[in-house]
Order: sequence, then C-alpha cells, then structure tokens
Amino acid sequence: MRIVRTISEIRMALKTLREGGHRIGFVPTMGYLHEGHAALIKQSTARCNHTVVSVFVNPTQFGPKEDLAQYPRDLDRDQNLCLKLGVDILFLPETSEIFPTGFGTFVEPGSLGEVLCGKFRPGHFRGVATIVAKLFNIVQPDLAFFGQKDLQQIAVIRRMIRDLNMPVDIVAAPTVREADGLAMSSRNTYLNPEDRKRALCLQRGLLAADAAFHKGERKASKLAAIARKELSSADDVQYCQMVDAYTMEALDGEITRTAALCIAAIIGKTRLIDNVVLSPTDEGVQFINHLDPS
Ligand code: AMP
Repeated sequence: MRIVRTISEIRMALKTLREGGHRIGFVPTMGYLHEGHAALIKQSTARCNHTVVSVFVNPTQFGPKEDLAQYPRDLDRDQNLCLKLGVDILFLPETSEIFPTGFGTFVEPGSLGEVLCGKFRPGHFRGVATIVAKLFNIVQPDLAFFGQKDLQQIAVIRRMIRDLNMPVDIVAAPTVREADGLAMSSRNTYLNPEDRKRALCLQRGLLAADAAFHKGERKASKLAAIARKELSSADDVQYCQMVDAYTMEALDGEITRTAALCIAAIIGKTRLIDNVVLSPTDEGVQFINHLDPS
C-alpha cells in the first residue's frame, strides 16, 4: 500500500494505473475507520482493480460551533486497517494541500442541501459537495462508494455528478451496525455508557416504522409518528421525517414510491442520524436495510 500526501504524487501514481486500463474504486472518509468504512472498502476491492481511500477531516463541512477540533483521529489504526483490507493507495493530505490560501470556489448543492440535516447544519452539504468534487477531480475514480447511513449525502453527490457531468458511478452500501443495532459512526465514541444505551432509540424507531410498513401501513405521517414514539429518551429530535429516498422531498400522503424515514436526534452532546428505506415497489432494491444486525 502506498501512502500519498500530495496531489501531484497521487496523480502520478494513478496515471500509471489508469494507462493499464484498470478500474479505480474510491472510498472518501474522515478517518477513525470502523466496520462501516471497511464494508465500503471491501466492496471497492471486490469490484475494482485498484482501491484508493482518502482520510481527510474536511473543515468546510463543519459549522463554527461543531466538533472539528475534537473529531476523533487515529491514523495508525486507519493505516493498519487499510493495509489489511488490500487498499492500494491511502491518500492523507494536509488541510493546506486541499485548501491552500486564497481558496474560494465552492459547489452549492441548492435546495437538496437545505432540508433535513442541511436545516440544522447550514453550509454542511456545500462543504461536502465541494470536498467530494475536489477529491473526484484528484482521484478520477470509475466507482465511488458511500454509506446509506448518510442518505442525504448520497442524494447530494448523485445530483452533483449529474448536474456537473462528472464521469463517476456512485455505489450506495448498506449501513453497518453494532451488535445491538446502533449504526456505526466515528462519533459514537462521544457517547458515555448511559448515552450509548439511550442511542438505541433511533434504531427502535426505525424498526417500529419498518414493521408497520411491512404490515401494510402506507401513510407517511403515521409511519413517522410510530417512529417518533420510540424517541422519547432522546434529548432532542431534530427531525423524524418521511422523504423521497432520491430527492429528499418531504412526503406526507400515501407512500407510492421509494421513501426513507430519516431521523436526527441529540443524545447527550452527540448528534446521531439514521434511516430506513421503505419501498412499495422494486425500484428501491438498490438500497438494502440491515436494521436488525442479528
Ligand atoms: P465519514 O468518515 O463518517 O465521513 O464516512 C465516510 C463514508 O463511510 C461515508 O460514505 C459514510 O456514509 C460511510 N459510513 C459511515 N458510517 C457507516 C456505516 N455505519 N455503515 C456504512 N457506511 C458508513
């Protein structure tokens, strides 16, 4: 595995590989890797000839009062995991390499970036779209892998590649969960033991709505209310909302197309998100839920 820190170095390394006609897979991350990231990397190594992983804690997607400074980091562990998983290139740029002095061009995702998480994290998806566009330009992957846990992020990136004609295919991979069902997240490390137990209410809400959906309930507001009932132990529920799984548009009538129930809740000092995709047709098959890890 090559560890590369500069844009010129990664461009050179990839040029040789691309000339051989090889398919390049890319997994962008903010590090502190867990099994969720590992699942994306495994999909990439299975489907592509070469896999590039980036670890970059992107300052432009954090708000001024958010956790940029305390975001967990463990580069040695990340490096060992990538090596074990057969990653070919690990890209570890400094912030100054990606955002040099005078940087001033951003990708604006529009209304898609203003709903759900965008409402509570203004500018977040502008930061996400900008860093992903930059990394796509640097790596020029054939396939890029993203987790379904961040469903709105997938929608923003899919729209960006369509709107800006970027030649990359996006693969959405199912959410990987802890043994008790909590969606894995680098931020779970912030949870104290009491918060950790309360955090399970998100998955309980999703399971309840999923069960009602499979029993035939199709009313978006009813399904959201079923999930919300389970969230009483959260300190705050930012949203518990049924949306179109592709456009993130709020749904309030009968569900007739692939929808997602999306939750963001505060447990202690930690903001957690999770979702389940509910599809009344076959159209939703590209999304897979593993709500119950057993
Ligand atoms: P992050 O390092 O949190 O920015 O995440 C990097 C990538 O890993 C994103 O595409 C996330 O959606 C994905 N990811 C994070 N957590 C999980 C999870 N529990 N299961 C699957 N993918 C995940």
